[in-house]
Amino acid sequence: MPEYDFRCDACQHRFSQGFKTYALYDAACLRCPACQSKELTRLISQVAIPKTNRDYRRLSSREMLSVLESGEGRQVDEMFRQVSGGQSDSRAAPASPDPIEPADSA
Ligand SMILES: [Zn+2]
Repeated sequence: MPEYDFRCDACQHRFSQGFKTYALYDAACLRCPACQSKELTRLISQVAIPKTNRDYRRLSSREMLSVLESGEGRQVDEMFRQVSGGQSDSRAAPASPDPIEPADSA
């Protein structure tokens, strides 16, 4: 179940709200439990995900959300590629080459 952290802009009260589905989240009309204000800011909680050899299919919904909201297009792209089961090319070929190691051994 996706869960979000919110902060009330009116009274700075912080609370967490879980949603049964993402669709429910979209339709939700949240109010601060302390002062009933609707001026809420959603807090992005970062989830630690290993940078190497990620298997996005094994991420929890919350971890996936963290990737989505990280705004890192390449990660999001790779996640969708894996989750959708899209092994379009050969299984060994990475979607985008990582310029981590220089391919120069001499
Ligand atoms: Zn409040």
